[in-house]
Amino acid sequence: TALVEFRGVTKRFGDGADGTPALEDVTLSIHRGEILGIVGESGAGKSTLLELVNGLQHPTHGTVTVDGTDVATLDRAGLRALRRDIGVVFQGVHLLSNSTVRDNVRLPLRLDRRDGGQARSRKQQRDAVDEILSFVGLSHRADHFPAQLSGGERQRVGLARALVSRPALLLCDEPTSSLDASTTGDVLRVLSDAREKLGATVAVITHDLDVVKAICDRAALLEKGRLREVFPVASTGTRS
Ligand code: ADP
Ligand code: ADP
Repeated sequence: TALVEFRGVTKRFGDGADGTPALEDVTLSIHRGEILGIVGESGAGKSTLLELVNGLQHPTHGTVTVDGTDVATLDRAGLRALRRDIGVVFQGVHLLSNSTVRDNVRLPLRLDRRDGGQARSRKQQRDAVDEILSFVGLSHRADHFPAQLSGGERQRVGLARALVSRPALLLCDEPTSSLDASTTGDVLRVLSDAREKLGATVAVITHDLDVVKAICDRAALLEKGRLREVFPVASTGTRS
């Protein structure tokens, strides 16, 4: 069944009627429990597609529903609740450079508490952070600062931060760009484990077809804002 549905979605930036829209008439589902790859050239609308899911952008036409709820109908509290259930790793990860890995990963739990979400005790927060750091294989880096980490490790900290609240949906923008083959493998293993072990649904933007082949069940190809095709992938797995 569909966790996310785009129905006839057009997104136009600005008010120029001449400009081609960032997305045009896109109808697409993200199925519960799948890893969906989103592929296409730069400017094809991939980031915009994901930004519509957590309400960072709103469609000009059409609807985006998450778990049956039209994102456009949510008020501030509704959006906050939605975002609590969606982990996001933007391109470039954006860790706080003056905070340790542990504190970076704990941040969403602290914000949650402040914003009236689940109020975990300090111990519960610490346990959740320890668990997810172990999950991404970075327990030994907990007290390090982002600058002391490799690119692949930083990406995995971003994933830990996105997953620490155990979201139903994980959205990632180019998680492996600028990583070499072995660190790419580490990151992909976390993504496929997020699905296998945490039960997350995953949507991942990538320009790398090897990434698609390694972990995706299906891939959606965008071309100049239009959905060109959605194709099934015969996954090769991350352990090859
Ligand atoms: P990529 O193409 O690799 O996904 P971009 O640099 O196109 O990355 O986009 C990164 C972010 O900047 C996205 O959040 C996108 O919405 C925003 N963005 C892209 N193009 C523009 C633009 N022309 N004006 C303002 N924001 C933009
Ligand atoms: P991709 O992620 O595939 O590179 P984007 O979704 O970032 O593509 O961008 C699609 C198109 O929308 C591009 O032409 C980009 O410049 C434009 N765009 C994206 N975000 C914004 C924004 N916030 N403001 C204006 N234009 C934007």
